[in-house]
Amino acid sequence: MITNPKILEYLDIISPVNSEPVEKVREKARENYIPIIKRDTENLLKFVLKMQKPESILEIGCATGYSAIVMLENSDANIVTIEKMPERVEEAVKNIKYTNLTNRAKVLEGDAGDILEKLVKENEKFDFIFMDAAKAQYINWLPTVKALLKDNGMIFSDNCLQEGDLLESSFAIRKRDKTIYKRMREYIYLLLHDETLESWIFSIGDGVLLSKNRR
Ligand code: SAM
Repeated sequence: MITNPKILEYLDIISPVNSEPVEKVREKARENYIPIIKRDTENLLKFVLKMQKPESILEIGCATGYSAIVMLENSDANIVTIEKMPERVEEAVKNIKYTNLTNRAKVLEGDAGDILEKLVKENEKFDFIFMDAAKAQYINWLPTVKALLKDNGMIFSDNCLQEGDLLESSFAIRKRDKTIYKRMREYIYLLLHDETLESWIFSIGDGVLLSKNRR
């Protein structure tokens, strides 16, 4: 994983930028310390969307809507995106409106665990699922996420190498983080050994795991 800040800054500068309104949404999120997708992960996400051509996307972890907007701008899909913090939901709705994408987006407020169960009951299915919320919950949400994935669909799990700290277990690491890392390692193992999925792991950004439904 390349962590040299100069290289990351170079990537930021050299990458083809999004449209001006999308870049403004990004800038605002960064100014307000909202944790948004890293530029190199964003590049991979765009590439995968171009290959996969989804018609329906589910995002778990919307924050203020930046990655949802990027996914909408780089596909013809509709998106359902989940966020638990009301002030972030409000900002996301504003940002999606500002980028003229409201007719293709639905922002759902609440805990992802509850909303995912509800989507399953409503028989919803998605071609592409972007996991970018509470890392320790990925493993708990996995059965529901799989139930929501269409045949040939893809799961894009961000942050799965925890910025390179995944193997840390020293005293310097807080107990809570140790638990998160342990659960994430289990999640990675499960996906890489799940016979219904084909998965690949990349040390890009904070670590990305791509999983394609074999059905
Ligand atoms: N995908 C966003 C982007 O790149 O623009 C960034 C998402 S941020 C890394 C993770 C978000 O997930 C936070 O805004 C957090 O409030 C939300 N989140 C965490 N746990 C959640 C849960 N259980 N249910 C719903 N949202 C959750």
